[in-house]
Amino acid sequence: MDTNWMALGKCAHEDPAVFFPSDGVGVIKAQRICRSCPMMDHCLEYALTNKIDHGVWGAESERSRRRMVRKRNAAAAKAQKQAARQAEIDLAEEGESAVAH
Ligand code: SF4
Repeated sequence: MDTNWMALGKCAHEDPAVFFPSDGVGVIKAQRICRSCPMMDHCLEYALTNKIDHGVWGAESERSRRRMVRKRNAAAAKAQKQAARQAEIDLAEEGESAVAH
């Protein structure tokens, strides 16, 4: 995965410890920097895709990213179930059509 965007992030000029806060005030401080970062979307997607647990990435806290990952996983599971159900329906319709002819 491309990581060139990291050099363009606002955090490239900050103390890395800012993005690994130990309390809520620290999270807010990091999020303020992230929200004016041109790489925010890349950063969040990178963290979600790579299941990065620690730190503030793309202006999202650890807890918030965990919630996002759970939602994504639930949506993917739902889509997979729907696709499987549709495949069964298609197969049944094909069978009915073959019997009718
Ligand atoms: S969104 Fe935040 S953590 Fe991500 S690159 Fe920008 S400043 Fe760094």
